[in-house]
Amino acid sequence: MKILVLNCGSSSLKFKLLNMEDSTVLAKGLAERIGMAGSVLTYQSTGLDKQIQETDMPDHITAVKLLIENICDPQFGAVKSLDEIDAIGHRVVHGGEKITTSVLIDDTIKQVIRDCFELSPLHNPPNLAGIEACEQNMPGKPQVAVFDTSFHQSMPREAFLYGLPYEYYEKYKVRRYGFHGTSHRYISRRAAQLLGKNIDRVKIITCHLGNGSSIAAIKLGKSIETSMGFTPLEGLMMGTRSGDIDPAIVSYIMEKENWTSQEVNEFLNKKCGVLGLSGVSSDFRDVQEAAENGNFRAQLALDVFAHDVKKYIGAYASLMDGVDAIVFSAGLGENSPSTRWNICDTLGYLGVAVDPEKNLYTGSAETDISRWGAKCRVLVIPTDEELMIAMDTLDIVSA
Ligand code: AMP
Repeated sequence: MKILVLNCGSSSLKFKLLNMEDSTVLAKGLAERIGMAGSVLTYQSTGLDKQIQETDMPDHITAVKLLIENICDPQFGAVKSLDEIDAIGHRVVHGGEKITTSVLIDDTIKQVIRDCFELSPLHNPPNLAGIEACEQNMPGKPQVAVFDTSFHQSMPREAFLYGLPYEYYEKYKVRRYGFHGTSHRYISRRAAQLLGKNIDRVKIITCHLGNGSSIAAIKLGKSIETSMGFTPLEGLMMGTRSGDIDPAIVSYIMEKENWTSQEVNEFLNKKCGVLGLSGVSSDFRDVQEAAENGNFRAQLALDVFAHDVKKYIGAYASLMDGVDAIVFSAGLGENSPSTRWNICDTLGYLGVAVDPEKNLYTGSAETDISRWGAKCRVLVIPTDEELMIAMDTLDIVSA
């Protein structure tokens, strides 16, 4: 079975075509600047040259039409005709409280996605536009929605409610939703397989550390806590997002700077975090280099980040009454030995003992970087959200 996976943003569309017989990628690409001047589609079938087409893409319908033409191209395409594609899996950011698993898309599901526009104004509208673009270009093909929020719907009330009047939860849906759910689900399941244990028997803390970062406590296969909240702004300090701050700081800064709510929101999402604290960059590689060259603020940003991650790991271990494995994933978690070391160096009380040699590994394989016999394993597992989406799509369509 061949499955097309789409991740639609407001002006971009990322895609992968997977062969589910052996989970290989047949083709991948990216449409950028949709609806703007200078739109461009990059397409590559595995093993063939990359194609770059600068062509007008006024909307997602045109972008999907163009990507289908590329996938089916007789010279550089990956399939002979559209008939070879069995289903489409979509990344959808917000499913609210109603959606707890991946689902076959129908009118009811489209309405649920629409109902969550208010909660996810930047992501849900283009996610739906991608679904409707596929309906137009590939009528009758089954489509599945895989939600970032659904995995965390297993959180108990005490984890998802804030200390606000209960009416704000009922009236305005203000609660912790959590994000990166597809990644946390994928890496926790891979971790259990790597440990040779059933997911229903292990307690895992998954650390998705990239430009956006979040941590989840996964007890016996279920997410029971996660660091992102009502929006992806909460939790760890990130590339440009502040993460946790005292909420009183928001109104204080607004008054000082004479800012509107939109301005302060933009500030907290785009100008803070590692970028704001270091004054160097949102990219950890630049910040690490600056710190090595003696930049005090760059070092401070790295220290605050490692401190934040440790704090969450400790909190989540206590919520689960212990932890069997800690997993690092995403750009930073997979590629930065120094970050992993700085986080794990004081976790001996949990049974963590990272092997300094094994920790230096930065390849793409799944790796156990613990010392022999360590009670709590530390694993590095490259995340693969597209594969998880394709696996869910396969399961649902086959059923
Ligand atoms: P992601 O959002 O998962 O694509 O992760 C992107 C982030 O990973 C970048 O902003 C970098 O800060 C970080 N990153 C990627 N490679 C490395 C590396 N070799 N060393 C340190 N940080 C890295």
